[in-house]
Amino acid sequence: MIELKDVSVEYSTGVTALKNVNVKIDPGEFAFIVGMTGSGKSTLLRLLYRDMLPTSGTVIVDGTDVTALKPRKVAGFRRRLGIIFQDFKLLPQKNVWENIAFALRVLGLPPKEIREKTETVLNQVGLAHCCDAFPSQISGGEQQIAAIARALANKPNVLIADEPTGNLDPDTSLEIMRILEEANKDGTTVVVATHDRIMVDRMKKRVIQIDNGEIVRDETEGTYRSDFQEA
Ligand code: ADP
Ligand code: MG
Repeated sequence: MIELKDVSVEYSTGVTALKNVNVKIDPGEFAFIVGMTGSGKSTLLRLLYRDMLPTSGTVIVDGTDVTALKPRKVAGFRRRLGIIFQDFKLLPQKNVWENIAFALRVLGLPPKEIREKTETVLNQVGLAHCCDAFPSQISGGEQQIAAIARALANKPNVLIADEPTGNLDPDTSLEIMRILEEANKDGTTVVVATHDRIMVDRMKKRVIQIDNGEIVRDETEGTYRSDFQEA
């Protein structure tokens, strides 16, 4: 499970990015984090993958108190997560297959398992035909799908995505959401920060809205905007 208890984040610049946030996400849930630019979405996600620590409060992810995690345990903890960013972060000198296989090698998997998992995940996301292509040779959408394949290859317990459809066309965005939904059906807990309104409205998942560092709405089958705000 994921739990934030009385979490506040103040950056060294004096900006308070999160204020007393309390939220729980159960194993197997699919949750969107929505809110305007600067509302604190990325900060919340960074806490989840232990990219930073809160100024105060406790963050629990997949049963681990990340705020108490010893630095030498951080890499091991991140192995249980899949992380996706808006800008893909694929390695430009490696083809699609190698990008995924390399990530699994870093995790210490044996060669046979790396081959099997790379093949399985590329088929799962429908990108087997691109395995020899370098990132610069495929579309932005295909690059993001390759990045998602890399994040899913080792079957993470938790998938964290920060604006995964940010720069992509609606069809590709839908395809990406379908892949995330499949992973969720397979048991992965999925947390997606987004301001992609169409996506959120179509998916009918839990919607947690942040405004100015505070949770202002939490709905089980929510839409991007509550009726209240539209009125
Ligand atoms: P969002 O992802 O919703 O756009 P962020 O979490 O990136 O929001 O930012 C929340 C607030 O914290 C904003 O005011 C932003 O300018 C500030 N902020 C984000 N990252 C940093 C940082 N590394 N240093 C200082 N301030 C930051
Ligand atoms: Mg952000």
